[in-house]
Amino acid sequence: MKLILFGPPGVGKGTQAKLLVEEFNCKHISTGDLLREAVKNKTPLGLKAKTYMDAGNLVPDEVVIGLIEEVLAADDTRENFILDGFPRTVPQAEALDELFKKLNITLDYVLSLEVENDEIVRRLSQRRLCRSCGRIYILSQIGNNVKCPACGGEIYQRDDDKPEAVRRRLEVYQQQTKPLLDYYRKSGKLVPINGMHEIGYVHKLILDQLYKNYKG
Ligand code: AMP
Repeated sequence: MKLILFGPPGVGKGTQAKLLVEEFNCKHISTGDLLREAVKNKTPLGLKAKTYMDAGNLVPDEVVIGLIEEVLAADDTRENFILDGFPRTVPQAEALDELFKKLNITLDYVLSLEVENDEIVRRLSQRRLCRSCGRIYILSQIGNNVKCPACGGEIYQRDDDKPEAVRRRLEVYQQQTKPLLDYYRKSGKLVPINGMHEIGYVHKLILDQLYKNYKG
C-alpha cells in the first residue's frame, strides 16, 4: 500500500495512520513526528525547524524534502508506506513526484480527511500526547493524569496546539496546503473521507474505500 494521508491539522491523520499501519504493516512516515524527534534530540535540523514549528509555520521545503528523500529511499519502505503531513506545498508535491519517478514508485491513493473547522479547533485544543510512546489522547480520556495510561510516559500538550499557533496553522493550511487538493484531484488519486465521525468509524470508511478500489 502506498498512500498519502491528506488534510488540515487536527483531522486525525496521525491517529488513522497508526490504525492503517496495524492493518497493512506499512511504514508510517510523518514529517511532523520526524521533525519533533529532531527537535527533541537538538540536532542541527531540529534547531532549525523549532522556531517555524512553534509559531505554526511550515518548515522550509528543502528541509522536509531532504528528510523524505532519505526515508523513502530505504528498500523496506518504498513498497509499503503511508505519508502523513507530507506534502504540504505544491513544490513539495512536485519534488515527491520526481522522487517517485526516480525510485519507480506508483502511488495508490491520496486519502483526504474532511472535518469542519470548528471541530478541528476543538480537537486540537483537547489533544494530548505521550512523550515516550507518541500515543495521542483526547483530554476527556485521561483527565488530569500526567502519566500515559499505556506506558507511564509523560503526557504533554504540543506548543503548536495552543490557540495562537492553531489559528496560524489553519491559515497556513488554507494558503499553502489546500491547493494540493486540486493537484491530486487532477491525478485521479484523491479519495475523500468524511472525518467527522468517531475514530473507529473513520477507519472503517477508509478500509471500505481501499478494499473497494485497491487493485494490488
Ligand atoms: P504535524 O505534526 O504534521 O501537524 O506537523 C507539525 C509541524 O511540523 C507543522 O506545523 C510544521 O511546522 C512542521 N511540518 C510537518 N510537516 C511539514 C511539511 N511537510 N512541510 C513543512 N513543515 C512541516
